[in-house]
Amino acid sequence: MQELSSEYRISIRSLLLRPDEKKTLSLEIDAETAESYGLPCVKLPRLEGLLENRAGVLMLNYQMSCVPALECDRCLAPVEMPVEEEFSHVIVTETASEQNDAEYLLAPDAMLDLAEVAMTDLRLSMPTKILCSPDCRGLCPVCGQNRNLTDCGCDTGDITLSYQ
Ligand SMILES: [Zn+2]
Ligand SMILES: [Zn+2]
Repeated sequence: MQELSSEYRISIRSLLLRPDEKKTLSLEIDAETAESYGLPCVKLPRLEGLLENRAGVLMLNYQMSCVPALECDRCLAPVEMPVEEEFSHVIVTETASEQNDAEYLLAPDAMLDLAEVAMTDLRLSMPTKILCSPDCRGLCPVCGQNRNLTDCGCDTGDITLSYQ
């Protein structure tokens, strides 16, 4: 089978076969890759971790630090929310019905795409609502101005604000 060449795709074949085999991971996801997953970053994702065969079970544990370039859901101002998080997965080469869990990573061809793992973990760790501050006043529904910066004075009495 021909393998795609990506610096983030690694073979885990020998790790799967040998109990107690380990591989340390230390890498940075590049800007283009982060952007291709829809999460451009102010500070690129840095991964430090370990792939380890623990008595026949392949575990991936790593620490990620990065600063995604987000924007406030209400006023669209840039929001910098540093991420420092640890992730852990069990890597399996075939799915069992009870394993459709984010903790399990499927690697059917014994290849692991670390960029995909990291960017998926990052996405899932993001809050569903991004706000520049908890009391962000958002954009005026009448004139569109940022109401954190200016008091436009529009009459918004009849407009129901629908902040999701
Ligand atoms: Zn805001
Ligand atoms: Zn206004």
